[in-house]
Amino acid sequence: MKIAPNTVVTLTYELRIDHAEGDLVERVEATEPFVFLFGTDSLLPDFEDNLLGKEASNGFAFAITADKGYGLHTEEAIIEVPRSVFDTDNEQDASEVLFAGNFLTLVDQDGNPMRGKVVEAGDEVVIMDFNHPLAGKGLHFTGEVLSVREASGEELAHGHVHGSGGHHH
Ligand code: ZN
Repeated sequence: MKIAPNTVVTLTYELRIDHAEGDLVERVEATEPFVFLFGTDSLLPDFEDNLLGKEASNGFAFAITADKGYGLHTEEAIIEVPRSVFDTDNEQDASEVLFAGNFLTLVDQDGNPMRGKVVEAGDEVVIMDFNHPLAGKGLHFTGEVLSVREASGEELAHGHVHGSGGHHH
């Protein structure tokens, strides 16, 4: 069976920066493969486009440019946040997480979680970088399709995979 919309795909992959020998970002192996419902718009469109039509035991290797990946790194995504935002009942708690390089999740006015990296923590303001960690980076995927099957009606209705590697509910 070939990968197409409404199939459940199980695969391994290795994600590296820019090319096949670039810095390793993530490795997903056959013991704990990536399982997803194809065509639900939850993945990078270029990722799915490169897998379309492949079948079990097919290998793949493709690159995705930064603009088609996690976007470009923008200065607008680096913002100053009043340190009071991080105030808790226990000042020590804030100090423990407010150090350069630490990733924190804040909530915007609409209640959406925003993950950002502490750039600099001052007494008054904290500079946070909300660019995606892979913003501005070219992505290179290699891997192998392990299996492809038809999604069940229930999986399509829910928009996610059930069973092994998916939701259990
Ligand atoms: Zn479900």
